[in-house]
Amino acid sequence: MLRKWLKILLVLVVAFVALAATGFQISKSRTFQFFGEIVPRVSTNQKVVALTFDDGPIPGSTEEVLSILNEGGVKATFFVTGAELEQNLDLGRKLVAAGHELGNHSFSHSRMVLKTPSFVKFEIERTDELIRQTGYQGPIHFRPPYGKKLFVLPYYLSQHSRKSIIWDVEPDSFPEVGSDAGKIVEYVLANVKPGSIILLHVMYPSRKESLKSVKGIIVGLKGRGYEFKTVSELLSLKT
Ligand SMILES: [Zn+2]
Repeated sequence: MLRKWLKILLVLVVAFVALAATGFQISKSRTFQFFGEIVPRVSTNQKVVALTFDDGPIPGSTEEVLSILNEGGVKATFFVTGAELEQNLDLGRKLVAAGHELGNHSFSHSRMVLKTPSFVKFEIERTDELIRQTGYQGPIHFRPPYGKKLFVLPYYLSQHSRKSIIWDVEPDSFPEVGSDAGKIVEYVLANVKPGSIILLHVMYPSRKESLKSVKGIIVGLKGRGYEFKTVSELLSLKT
């Protein structure tokens, strides 16, 4: 009798571990989620890419990246957090005035996994409100912090007809690449395809090399015939 129960317990433990492992893999997948649309890149034959920046806006680095983009004549997409935007609404207004797109990167930058519907709702809606306070009028796409999502977040987004915008080129996620601006540029040029969505973090002092790489990425990709689009423009070119 005891052995029978031990067996059942063992099966349950194994099943639970397998489920948890599967959930973990799905939560960080770049191409699959349970509800709604997840977009790691856009399928197109045109040589177009979107340059996207996560987090912020933060004083100093925002002005710096704005001037680099302005010099290159490039419009980018900034996935801002509500908490940082609330502190720096003037920087948000500068991004919008310069013609860049703003996206929602949650309010508090928490992993949006195993969270309640009311938490998810606040994170999204409060950040949308702040984005609108900058004067931004375009569509607001969502990008989950750390690319993490499981049930509640994708369900909420799908109920509100919103896409999750991920990325397919993430040079500064690899320490050996992200620690050197030259390597970041090389990595982007080697891995980009028509319709790619490039993710960079340029806001914090620890990401100086990413900020330094932006000019090289613009020059390198333009030299290969690529045009830069905002995320919304890129989505409209889907074939
Ligand atoms: Zn982030």
